[in-house]
Amino acid sequence: MSSEHELQVLNPATEEVVATVPAASPQDVDAAVVRATKAQADWAARAPGDRARLLRRFATVVDDHVEELALLEVREAGHVIGNARWEAGNVRDLLDFAAGGVERLSGRQIPVAGGIDVTFLEPLGVVGIIAPWNFPMPIAAWGTAPALAAGNAVILKPAETTPLTALRLAELALEAGLPEHLFQVLPGAGPVAGNALVEHPGVAKVVFTGSTAVGKQVLAKGSALLKRVTLELGGKSPNIVFADADLEAAAAAAPMSFLDNSGQDCCARTRILVQRSVHDRFLELLAPAIESVVVGDPADEKTAMGPLISKVQLERVRSYVAADAQGISGAAPEGPGFWFPPTVLTDVDPHARVAVEEVFGPVAVVLPFEDEADAVRLANDTPYGLAGSLWTRDVGRALRVSRAVRAGNLSVNSHSSVRYWTPFGGFKQSGLGRELGPEALAAFTETKNVFISTEA
Ligand code: NAD
Repeated sequence: MSSEHELQVLNPATEEVVATVPAASPQDVDAAVVRATKAQADWAARAPGDRARLLRRFATVVDDHVEELALLEVREAGHVIGNARWEAGNVRDLLDFAAGGVERLSGRQIPVAGGIDVTFLEPLGVVGIIAPWNFPMPIAAWGTAPALAAGNAVILKPAETTPLTALRLAELALEAGLPEHLFQVLPGAGPVAGNALVEHPGVAKVVFTGSTAVGKQVLAKGSALLKRVTLELGGKSPNIVFADADLEAAAAAAPMSFLDNSGQDCCARTRILVQRSVHDRFLELLAPAIESVVVGDPADEKTAMGPLISKVQLERVRSYVAADAQGISGAAPEGPGFWFPPTVLTDVDPHARVAVEEVFGPVAVVLPFEDEADAVRLANDTPYGLAGSLWTRDVGRALRVSRAVRAGNLSVNSHSSVRYWTPFGGFKQSGLGRELGPEALAAFTETKNVFISTEA
């Protein structure tokens, strides 16, 4: 069991203890902020080319350790090995991409009378990053890489259940030659160490990824200090299948759009909206696709879906699926581990809990719609607005519906949402601000305007 002073990390596929790590106290956060403040001042004063070179070296060291990091992710988070390798590679790519921005982080020169006017993109100082357990490595790096590249120091608080890859990344940063204390990882309890970062006056910005409920608290507490806050929160994203779509392709792609990472994905397409005229045909195609998903040992290359992260999460997911629920169900292992089978529920009330709340497990609902307007209405009938997909052969409809759905990340005839070089973030209660993409570094700066008189 985890305690106030330490965190126990379990392998979710076996329930074995993988490691025990110390949990940071508010005093530990204070001390880390003091160290980070000093390291940041030195870092920001370095030549941009030096900073870029060190970040590129960090990327290379991560690349040299992709397999080790991936295996750690399999053990602490139950991610399937192929995904875990991609995630470690994503950290490398984020560092490389951010490194390319260091020398390009230019201000502007704006025409004025009697002098010149220039802007500077100044680093914020110390940035606190609070990460969830569902994608421990990528989400840590989404904030860390651009924050460091823009001249900040970072204190990362990983989720209680998944601190190990983050701790290893901090070691690799030192191995790559990053200055001591520039990138610190402080595992700890959210309401203790996480909250201490949010309330600390020495932390200029908090990047929080997690549940909408905690995100709202972070925003409220941060506002007392007018702290800069980026929030990446929950989702209940639609997958809209129109009658004119390539139904075979839509049905083949639907399973992994909500089963990837066992459904513990804020972008999971868990509301499958299907035009009524093709509803039954789509389900006929979907059933074998769901039933053939291989669920099991995440370290096995053939496995498509692993366990849920924890017992708590398993019980939460179970609470959404009634014993007499109608639909399609896949297989899952028995015995130790936090297993739940791929599940698609049909004949669901659109206002049922499972149809409106984020389950964060391998559970989707299928809801029929009549026409384009009805599809958009249903898609938008949620407080969330993170992602969504639509399947159609009609280009005009693809554009109309993409523009009409109130969400930050849409894909047409595909379920892809996240690339490190394109912007990502939520509308409505799915978040605030954007990460990744061409503006990633700017989100970790404050614009300063300087006027220099030529009249004196
Ligand atoms: P969570 O909100 O419980 O925890 C997220 C992080 O916040 C953890 O590190 C936790 O320790 C910390 N935390 C908890 N209470 C805190 C507090 N009072 N003050 C400061 N920090 C605190 O969420 P979770 O269960 O770990 O993650 C799942 C959620 O994350 C889902 O709702 C999912 O949609 C969301 N998520 C969103 C995105 C996105 O980009 N939008 C990405 C991944 C996950």
